[in-house]
Amino acid sequence: MSDAAAERGGEIAGRLDRAVGAMQGFAVGDALGATVEFLTPREIKAKYGVHKRVIGGGWLDLRPGQITDDTEMMLIVGRVILAHRGWNLSACCAGFADWLRGGPVDVGNTVRRGIRRFMTDGTLQAPYSDGDAGNGACMRNLPVALATLDDPAAFRLWTLEQCRITHNHPLSNEATLSLGHMVRALVRDADVAAARDEANGLVAAHPDFRFSVYRPGDCSPFIVDTVKTVFHAYFGTETFRDCLIETVNQGGDADTAGALAGMLAGATYGAAAIPREWLDRLDPDIASACRKQAAGLLRLVSAGTNEE
Ligand SMILES: [Mg+2]
Repeated sequence: MSDAAAERGGEIAGRLDRAVGAMQGFAVGDALGATVEFLTPREIKAKYGVHKRVIGGGWLDLRPGQITDDTEMMLIVGRVILAHRGWNLSACCAGFADWLRGGPVDVGNTVRRGIRRFMTDGTLQAPYSDGDAGNGACMRNLPVALATLDDPAAFRLWTLEQCRITHNHPLSNEATLSLGHMVRALVRDADVAAARDEANGLVAAHPDFRFSVYRPGDCSPFIVDTVKTVFHAYFGTETFRDCLIETVNQGGDADTAGALAGMLAGATYGAAAIPREWLDRLDPDIASACRKQAAGLLRLVSAGTNEE
């Protein structure tokens, strides 16, 4: 093998490790965080000391390693992109509708309302609503980011269509775009400093997202609170494990915040950095789906199917 071919092979393997890390990190964060969703930091401390084990339970009474709506919806987006070798808005809406009909373990109010609108009148986009700045659109966009690694225009277009199925709000849109830019850059081998530049750009445009001063426990389903919690933990730690422990122990919307923190940390440190005792507890079907989707989405990128 020539040096150039070996280098290209190493680059592809590195991208795959970080993409799998993002997907499996997301699912692990969901499973870890769900145990303490809606608790306060004080309640978590009284019950667990520091919460750091994938044990299920929580208000949804989950099995150890069971994931919630965050990972289920994220994987639907991935399945749609893979089935259509690119974005397909109506297929994504139909996938969400099938999922809702199946009686998911959990579903957010805005997500439910958006999917029911599609089921009722077939429209593919929610009308603007001041109250729709929840984190339900942001939480499921990871496959879009991976499939458009080399195509910023497609990333923006697919992301906005994906978000607006249920959430038509600038804070939701901008946060989803920003986190997606970060994941795309990290998987392509950017460093944390580049991710920090992206986060700083979001804060400059929308000061609500400022996370330099963080009040413990300030994690709610409001997209601003979720993203601040994730940024505070991600930029304040240096390992996958520390990032997730810091995130989920804030409680509140701990499964979504855990999932998004796991996505960024996995894209940064790679799949091999996910603690074994967490990954071994994750539902094996979910761990496998994450790995397969990550590989399939990167194959779409290398096949150039997004380049019109
Ligand atoms: Mg959830």
